Amino acid sequence: MEKIFIAVAWPYANGSLHLGHIAGSLLPPDIFARYHRMKGNMVLMVSGSDEHGTPITLEAEKQGKTPKEFVDYYHNEHVECLKKLGISFDLFSRTTNKNHEKVVQDMFLTLLKKGYIYKKKGVALYCDKCKRWLPDRYVEGKCPHCNFENARGDQCEKCGKTLNADELISPRCKNCNTEPEKRETEQFFLKLSSFKKQLTDYMKDKKFWKENVYRFTMNWIKNLEDRPITRNLEWGVKIPLEGYDDKRIYVWFDAVTGYLSTSKEFSFWEDFWKDKNTKHYYFIGKDNIPFHTIIWPSMLLGYGGLNLPYNVPANEFLTLKGEGFSKSRKRGIWVPEYLKEFEPDPLRYYLSVNMPENRDVDFSWDDFIMKNNNVLVATLGNFIHRVLTFTKKNFEKIPEGYEPDDLDKDVLKKIGESFSKTEKYIEKCEFKNAMKTVMELAQFGNRYIDEKAPWKSIKEDKKGCGTTMHVCMRIVKALSVLMYPFLPFSGKKLQSMIGYKNLGWDDGKTDVKGELNNIAPLFKKIEMEEEKMLNIEDFAKIELRVGEIKNVEEHPDAEKLYILKVDMGDEERQLVAGLKKDYKKEELVGKKIVVVTNLKPAKLRGIMSDGMLLAADDGKTVAILSPDKNVKNGARIR
Ligand SMILES: [Zn+2]
Ligand SMILES: [Zn+2]
Repeated sequence: MEKIFIAVAWPYANGSLHLGHIAGSLLPPDIFARYHRMKGNMVLMVSGSDEHGTPITLEAEKQGKTPKEFVDYYHNEHVECLKKLGISFDLFSRTTNKNHEKVVQDMFLTLLKKGYIYKKKGVALYCDKCKRWLPDRYVEGKCPHCNFENARGDQCEKCGKTLNADELISPRCKNCNTEPEKRETEQFFLKLSSFKKQLTDYMKDKKFWKENVYRFTMNWIKNLEDRPITRNLEWGVKIPLEGYDDKRIYVWFDAVTGYLSTSKEFSFWEDFWKDKNTKHYYFIGKDNIPFHTIIWPSMLLGYGGLNLPYNVPANEFLTLKGEGFSKSRKRGIWVPEYLKEFEPDPLRYYLSVNMPENRDVDFSWDDFIMKNNNVLVATLGNFIHRVLTFTKKNFEKIPEGYEPDDLDKDVLKKIGESFSKTEKYIEKCEFKNAMKTVMELAQFGNRYIDEKAPWKSIKEDKKGCGTTMHVCMRIVKALSVLMYPFLPFSGKKLQSMIGYKNLGWDDGKTDVKGELNNIAPLFKKIEMEEEKMLNIEDFAKIELRVGEIKNVEEHPDAEKLYILKVDMGDEERQLVAGLKKDYKKEELVGKKIVVVTNLKPAKLRGIMSDGMLLAADDGKTVAILSPDKNVKNGARIR
């Protein structure tokens, strides 16, 4: 029996889960865990909501909630969604949990005592008007790398480079728009540079990792820099030392320690963390690679005596029409919305065969519906249903098999091959290939039954026909096991229809007998109208805010377009809009408008437009929707 520890990236509690999370880091470990449990291995699978950090405090402030109220909402929603999707965590915790805080503080103090954490003076931004420090997302300014005007204090969204807030050129407080001052402050740093040799040794037998994960990690090791692990903040895990009340432990140090803190909720945690034979798998998205292959291993090495990651099969991204899903931009297909309309298994199937294992993969509703209807329903569902209904009708229960012919023997061989191939793929974390292998067995079953034509043999050779259906039932039983890690709801239902319960992995290769109960189709066709898709897509989470037009210019290359500068309260946005026919420039200046603010900026005839204003259009006239004057710019529309 093996011991397998499955660590899953902590979803951030600043918005609903979207399909990108499921395909990237939540479904793969669930398939893996379910498989290993069926094999009889000991599995511990943990994760939780990542509830600290400035995106959370910032959004909570905007909504007039406390950070706690804000994260409670999304944590509960995450738990609900994960349950409905069948993501089978042994524990899904949260970083605001008391025990977690203790474990993080113990990690901090131990590394401090051993000299892997040290204090260093540096500068940080302070807004004198708001009387507060401005970490990360509390500040915006010009990117020092690409000159993008609205780079955030932690990252430039344009060029993707990570930043420190004090590197921004002409920074401004996001709250009051004034320029903050640089003040000296002390932070704690993790001495990553001292782990270079140990990390290099650790990586020596990791050539079996996904190529990009391996390469990325090796490059990082070359340029290891110490990193600050504290921030001037009030929301987060407290520093367990006197005199640092204005600082908190930085969110990434906090979150990775969650793998250990959740494990410690179990009395047997040491079996997984101290037994050298236990293998640790970390399922994450590619944006999290350095935290799991450099920083967390360094922390564990510094702490001492705990197992390091064995494999980190990071996935690429699921995209929507070529662009990334994003919680903060509110752009994606949201799991709660999906689950209102559909069953979990069709999604699990679709994301299994479209998993972004080696490259970004685009999600499309048309493809989702096509694969559900043409493969899940027409191949897998159809094979199973025709076998079960024919057997029930003609034999009542599963018939015995008599002398198998060559074709029958081929089937048994094929079942064995399907198992060994699927096993091999799952163990290598190649879930896409594993799911395809399962589907191939269903295709094979369909060909076998067509060739045998039991609807003919039933009339002349009932015994021979019984053998055929017995062999078909072997395939069905095998499928009920093989599909289970991917499609647990349907797998369970199928096992119960053929008189079994909780079959182990190897049970799928054994003979079949018994009663047939409550036969019903496992999958159903999806017919979906455009409207429903839009609902589930971005329009469900559209963000509307009030803006005021400050300036209007004519578009240099388009007759009908104006370029508007719009005051959105905390920022100015440029919109390009087709209003020239209906409005004079001076009619627009000073007008309050409604802006859709969470769309991806787009170029209109060469000019960037960051948002869309709402207007009514009857085919002849375009009329702007305009709220009353007394509402503040930036106000949300509910
Ligand atoms: Zn940049
Ligand atoms: Zn300010």
